[in-house]
Amino acid sequence: MINIALDGPAGSGKSTIAKAISKKLNILYLDTGAMYRALGLSAYRLGVDTKDAVAVEKILPNVDVRVKYENGSQRTYLGEEDVSEKIRENHVSMLASNVSAHQCVREKLVELQREIAKGTDCVLDGRDIGTHVLPNANYKFYVTASLEERTERRYKELIAKGQTVDKNALKEEIATRDYNDSHRKFAPLRQAEDAIYLDTSDMTADEVVAFVVSKIK
Ligand code: C5P
Repeated sequence: MINIALDGPAGSGKSTIAKAISKKLNILYLDTGAMYRALGLSAYRLGVDTKDAVAVEKILPNVDVRVKYENGSQRTYLGEEDVSEKIRENHVSMLASNVSAHQCVREKLVELQREIAKGTDCVLDGRDIGTHVLPNANYKFYVTASLEERTERRYKELIAKGQTVDKNALKEEIATRDYNDSHRKFAPLRQAEDAIYLDTSDMTADEVVAFVVSKIK
């Protein structure tokens, strides 16, 4: 059984690494951020203040976040609705970060994540995989990069998807999200003691993937 945990802040390159590893090793990839995004989107649509823990807890029993695999890649659903594209809209990032701070949300989604990972060779990326979701993962990586570099990557990604974004606003939003994610009370973003630290600021995606794969082999 192989379990790989990839944690780090937004835009650090986690999903690029996870996708490449999943393909190379032919193992399942679970993007846990997508689940928090789906829940944040659902709260927003219901007119709920995503920062209000009590209000979010009230809607939780009726929020049906599902993950399916179609042709080997993850699709994220709210009930029967495929929201895989919708959750990539930039305004959803902060909604996800807001709801992710609430303990009730983390309990619900972590249970689902463990359920999906159970008994399966997999790579999971997120913020708390090595510290909380899969503390016994065989391989753990903490991937980061400078705020400038991460903003640049995110900016290019959003522009490529046809979204209009202001780079300075994006930089500020990423910094706020980093702060909130690493200062929240429940399962904050931090490096697991046994994780390999990797700063990808000056590395190409190929170099990063090669490094991670070399550690796994
Ligand atoms: O990884 P991504 O940027 O899509 O995640 C969106 C948000 O979801 C993060 O800013 C973080 O607040 C939250 N998240 C989390 N724990 C995870 C994955 C994501 O709190 N394991």
